[in-house]
Amino acid sequence: MIIVLKSGTPTEEIERVSTEMRTWGLTPEKIVGKHKVVIGLVGETAELDPLRIQEISPWIEHVLRVEQPFKRASREYRHGEPSEVVVPTPNGDVVFGEGQPVVVVAGPCSVENESMIIETAQRVKAAGAKFLRGGAYKPRTSPYAFQGHGESALDLLAAAKAKTGLGIITEVMDAADLEKIAEVADVLQIGARNMQNFSLLKRVGAQPKPVLLKRGMSATIEEWLMAAEYILAAGNPNVILCERGIRTFDREYTRNTLDLGAIPVLRKLTHLPIMVDPSHGTGWAEFVPAMAKAAVAAGADALMIEVHPNPAKALSDGAQSLTPDQFDELMQALQGPLVSLSR
Ligand code: PEP
Ligand code: MN
Repeated sequence: MIIVLKSGTPTEEIERVSTEMRTWGLTPEKIVGKHKVVIGLVGETAELDPLRIQEISPWIEHVLRVEQPFKRASREYRHGEPSEVVVPTPNGDVVFGEGQPVVVVAGPCSVENESMIIETAQRVKAAGAKFLRGGAYKPRTSPYAFQGHGESALDLLAAAKAKTGLGIITEVMDAADLEKIAEVADVLQIGARNMQNFSLLKRVGAQPKPVLLKRGMSATIEEWLMAAEYILAAGNPNVILCERGIRTFDREYTRNTLDLGAIPVLRKLTHLPIMVDPSHGTGWAEFVPAMAKAAVAAGADALMIEVHPNPAKALSDGAQSLTPDQFDELMQALQGPLVSLSR
């Protein structure tokens, strides 16, 4: 349920209403939007009559039921207003959210060695990316495939950050690695394969770094938003959703089916920022630019693009990685008249 307060409601009154709600066994959360202050209520509200809450204060405009099973993640919970995830980086704050300039995250699938990560970081920064991505811990289908360099790759990401000032996004696969990853990462990635690893979701929800939640390979939109709800419910409000393609019947020509239709659906259902990853979404570098442009045209707030200085030699995901030159070209195309990077 949410309590929508009239504009100009005094702070003491907001506090009084919140305290009253606690005595009813509910958890109130104050959400300050651009236009309105809303109090979100989580708990057993099914039997509650909204009119009883309405009577508590003359400052209450109305009381609405949140119909979706994902409460905090729902658009209704913020009375229709989008949320922003502000990430401090050495180069300044980067804002993810509706109506903000599109944020581009780029870099290799895996951090392979110092020279490749530094070179990639410098090139993607020069092209306009705000974050460097790169896996230190890699979720691979085969236990015999390259698993990532682990801790030593975190040091290389730290070196790339120090050199370029780019923010760092890297994946957490195991809660045991969380603390050391959070020392370097500005945003923690939860990969598709862990989207429903509920203990991991609770752990990243209980720490302060923003979380990039990739869609599970066969996850419905509702399952995905319920996974986001785990993180929000554990106390971390900074969640970015990332569509990265889902498993459908075609495996011949595309690795996954990039669900661009999810963008307007998410926009309707949730206030959270939306990222699209056309690299994993298609599996082939030649299809990435078209899908990146389409994602921005459809309203994505951010893009994740795999870039490798020598894709043919990449230790993972080379086929879907752009070269730095191809990435430059894409970034220029994204500045064009169809999709502006500063909407
Ligand atoms: C990745 O970002 O390199 C990755 C493994 O992504 P996903 O979890 O979407 O497969
Ligand atoms: Mn990858």
